[in-house]
Amino acid sequence: PELIFLDNASTTQKPQAVIDTLRDYYENYNSNIHRGIYRIAEEATAAYESTRNKTASFIHAEDSRSIVFTRGTTESINLVAYSWGGKNLKAGDEILITEMEHHSNIIPWQLLCERSGAALKYIPITKDGKLDLSEPDKYFTDKTKLVCVIHQSNVFGTVNPVEEIVCLAHNCDAKVLVDGAQIAPHHAVDVTRLDCDFFAFSGHKMLGPTGVGALYAKPELLEEMDPFLGGGEMIRTVSMESSTWNDIPWKFEAGTPNIAQVIGLGAAIDYLSELGMENVSAIEKELHDYARVKLAEISGLKIYGDREDKGAVISFNVGNVHSHDLAHILDTFGIAIRAGHHCAQPIMQKLGVPATNRASFYLYNTKEEIDRLTEGIMKAVEMFEG
Ligand code: PMP
Repeated sequence: PELIFLDNASTTQKPQAVIDTLRDYYENYNSNIHRGIYRIAEEATAAYESTRNKTASFIHAEDSRSIVFTRGTTESINLVAYSWGGKNLKAGDEILITEMEHHSNIIPWQLLCERSGAALKYIPITKDGKLDLSEPDKYFTDKTKLVCVIHQSNVFGTVNPVEEIVCLAHNCDAKVLVDGAQIAPHHAVDVTRLDCDFFAFSGHKMLGPTGVGALYAKPELLEEMDPFLGGGEMIRTVSMESSTWNDIPWKFEAGTPNIAQVIGLGAAIDYLSELGMENVSAIEKELHDYARVKLAEISGLKIYGDREDKGAVISFNVGNVHSHDLAHILDTFGIAIRAGHHCAQPIMQKLGVPATNRASFYLYNTKEEIDRLTEGIMKAVEMFEG
């Protein structure tokens, strides 16, 4: 209870309602889904599929068939790289990403380029943590087949102009994948209005269990894509020679899925929906505004990509104190922050630093905790710098 948890961009704590939902499934109706004829199997199937409907409404997808459950953002992106990329990309094509991406929105494309012969291009970032879209024609060309962009940066908190990027991409007939890992937990998302082709996010960063997330994809794309993993449940017929595939989205959910976790994600979505995403954003904005003022009181503290209108994520360094040392000392005061490259080494290279500290806030954090963080940093700096 004393812990001050400020590593919410990494994962979030779980409300009792989510923990109770997991427990209820295991205690009262644990069974496999989509196959049992008995009561608890039907109950589990209904609970699992109702999360699909909740997930579709949560991100304003019109058709629940566009929601594929995965292990999280990383798996969702890899699914697109294999199933869509494997079929649609060839030598001479280009994939456009940005210098602001998390490794999970870089590596699958590097691997796809190796397999397909396509080339990977990067939209640059400025040192103050924004995308440099001043020369779009340099990057969006008739060779561009896929554009992948992080919606909210896990390092800076910058919210990127995804609508503009979708327009630029669609004007050159490219598809767009949005890495929504950091936006879905904090702001209302409307994939229909965004008109993106793919949208990936993780349950554990939005109060849900680990091991579950989703891929949204336009149904017509899912229809034409090949399966990602083969096995039970993703088939319609199997003979010794060949097989046919189940309808979407089940074509992409091979084997026994993470049933409990999907049902738990449903409880997390209920929790956030009851609060209202506009209220979640408002709480975080207040915390972010307050933290910016408090941290500015610390001499020698530099915030990377500091601005008012962004997500509640603050990356910083103080004087010559190494981020690991600072995070370690704060831990002894009961304050958990992240230190390191945040799975975004290209950003660190751009900033010319090996690592930063990162405090990231969520709806359960308080201004008192930010006061304690500020005092903690001041004490730690005193210990290191005298
Ligand atoms: N993208 C972003 C922006 C992230 O912050 C993260 C998690 N740190 C991921 C992708 C990967 O998410 P996961 O580990 O849940 O697959």
